[in-house]
Amino acid sequence: MVCAPFDLLRVTSYGDGIRALLEYGEDAKIIAGGQSLGPMLALRLARPSMLVDINDVGEGAPSLDGDVLRVPALTRQRTVAESPLVAEYAPLLGHCVRHIGNVRVRNRGTIGGSLAHGDPTAEIACAALALDARLVVHGPDGERVVPAREFFVSYLTTVLEPAELVVEVRFPVMRPGQGWSFHEMTRRVSDFAVVAIAATVELDPDGGAVRSVDAALAGVADRPVRGRPEALAALVGSAGSPTEIAAAAGALAETTDPGSDVHASGAYRRRLVEVLGRRALGEAVARARQAVLGA
Ligand SMILES: Cc1cc2nc3c(=O)[nH]c(=O)nc-3n(C[C@H](O)[C@H](O)[C@H](O)COP(=O)(O)OP(=O)(O)OC[C@H]3O[C@@H](n4cnc5c(N)ncnc54)[C@H](O)[C@@H]3O)c2cc1C
Repeated sequence: MVCAPFDLLRVTSYGDGIRALLEYGEDAKIIAGGQSLGPMLALRLARPSMLVDINDVGEGAPSLDGDVLRVPALTRQRTVAESPLVAEYAPLLGHCVRHIGNVRVRNRGTIGGSLAHGDPTAEIACAALALDARLVVHGPDGERVVPAREFFVSYLTTVLEPAELVVEVRFPVMRPGQGWSFHEMTRRVSDFAVVAIAATVELDPDGGAVRSVDAALAGVADRPVRGRPEALAALVGSAGSPTEIAAAAGALAETTDPGSDVHASGAYRRRLVEVLGRRALGEAVARARQAVLGA
């Protein structure tokens, strides 16, 4: 496996990266951690003649800005997984990231690269969708902020225009009374997920009833998707009992229509949504209850 020849341009600012993308057009490709692009180059699934390396822009680190956790796009997945700020304010994100590949991948792979790559089984996408994150995008026309729920278009395709870059991801911090959970099924440790689900549940201040619930699914469509709100609606206002959770997980599975591939049949994936959904929603309710009672 030998890459097709390419030139490498190292830039030290996103502005220079955008200018390079404009100059070289379709021949150019951004490289961040290289953990998805590298294999694609080696397999000649991508054959850019110019690689624009943004690593010298600087990794940065997660920071708290009011009720938003700001994570620079170049933050390595390992940094995200080990960040005390992420653990405190967006624990679902840190937990999801720890399921990515292996430590060598997480050492280099970046949060922005994972989202821009748009793999339908990506764990970071699950966290971004479930937590209603916002992506800060820079391009020739300046800055725009794109909700994660509008970012993924189809297989390895996002709303990013050819000369646009993800520069930051903003996660709303967990609210008091909110619980979370993530479950995935992989064939072997460190494999990509067959199906994954992230869930958040918020309880009323007295812990009696579910105030809001959200979920995100990977491995069930051509892109990571938000769980359909109407499937989860019956949980809102309920006590979040095991029976109610099982019904919601079943309804969630009913809204999916996954395809079959070499890894699993569509029917098996749909069954996984129900089983993992039950576990994730149940755990999120339990964590929310713990948060309310412990407050
Ligand atoms: C063995 C192995 C196992 C893996 N397992 C998993 C897994 O279980 N789950 C999972 O989700 N991923 C997995 N990955 C992929 C890994 O998470 C990648 O790190 C991630 O998908 C891409 O991030 P990156 O920084 O490496 O991006 P790169 O590979 O450098 O780039 C990926 C794509 O995104 C574009 N890009 C990168 N950064 C930006 C930016 N800031 N703005 C705009 N475009 C950008 C590039 O042009 C390219 O098209 C695995 C990879 C390997 C090699």
